[in-house]
Amino acid sequence: MESIYGYTEDMLKDYLTEHGEKPFRAKQIIEWVYRHQIKSFDEMTNVKKSFIEQLKSDFSFDELECVDHQISFDGTQKFLFRLADGNLIETVLMSQEYGYSVCVTTEVGCNMNCQFCASGMKKKLRNLEASEIVLQILMAGRLANVRVSHVVVMGIGEPFDNYDNVIKFFKIINHPLGLEIGARHITVSTCGLVPKIYEYADFDLQVNLAISLHAPNNEIRDKIMPINKAYRIEELIEAIKYYIEKTNRRVTIEYILLKGINDSKENANELANLLHGLNVYVNLIPYNEVKEKPYKRSEKDDMVAFFDVLKKRRINVQLRKEQGGDIDAACGQLRSKHMNKENKA
Ligand code: SAH
Repeated sequence: MESIYGYTEDMLKDYLTEHGEKPFRAKQIIEWVYRHQIKSFDEMTNVKKSFIEQLKSDFSFDELECVDHQISFDGTQKFLFRLADGNLIETVLMSQEYGYSVCVTTEVGCNMNCQFCASGMKKKLRNLEASEIVLQILMAGRLANVRVSHVVVMGIGEPFDNYDNVIKFFKIINHPLGLEIGARHITVSTCGLVPKIYEYADFDLQVNLAISLHAPNNEIRDKIMPINKAYRIEELIEAIKYYIEKTNRRVTIEYILLKGINDSKENANELANLLHGLNVYVNLIPYNEVKEKPYKRSEKDDMVAFFDVLKKRRINVQLRKEQGGDIDAACGQLRSKHMNKENKA
């Protein structure tokens, strides 16, 4: 049986045609599943009994098991979910001025091995199915009893390393009869899989793109992000240029400030040179320290100085505020804590 939560409208249409049903029923199914949030096809009143039986034999409504739910003083909530195969993933829900935003995980573990990141300490075991990503949104919204209006694909995993399922996920949560999360309210973040950035530029949904750059040159990026060995910073910038030209959309550049590594004024000037003339927005991120890693958060003064250089050089920039620090909302921390607990038990 397959999860109903992994089916896009097109996939449902194909299924319906194969079973001699009218393709317009795809919309009805989506409405029942996401608007009415039915738990069984028996609840669908506008579909004939025999077809309901068919649907019941082909699709499941299985959900994720919530094994931990923490709430931070600032309203950030963190969920630890167990998948059907026993693997654990985490999902974060943030309360913003503009609504509720959910940060989803796309893979069990991650192979990118960024040196500062807790997620990379666990090798990738598998991709998440589209349904498992969709369910994070559905369940976080339900458990917190809020409507999720924004989504960021910035949890554990490299979304462009699980490209097809992530694209399916976008189509499913964006559907106007379903969760109806606007494409402009969704942001996907990649460490820079260059061929996928080109492919993504040609994708028709207007989902926002963020790039984890974290360094102004190859020398520094090589040290902290192994992906830079495969795709040099110049190739990455070319791909970003192509994306901007093709889509006419602004790209977010993420830059974690790591003490003594990439946070000097010289680095800021180098970054300004690299990004000069590009339609980008730089998000400076205070590093969440990870116990097992040697990296430290930059001093406040250095962060402000870095910010000031970029501002002076007329780069669009913001220094991101932190959320959920008291509940280990930094990437991978809750999951790894739990695994340690379970390993010790
Ligand atoms: N693999 C994707 C998405 C997941 S990480 C990517 O690399 O973009 C989401 C963002 O959090 C990335 O910019 C990542 O570099 C950053 N990040 C990872 N560990 C962090 C930490 N300890 N503190 C602050 N940001 C971190």
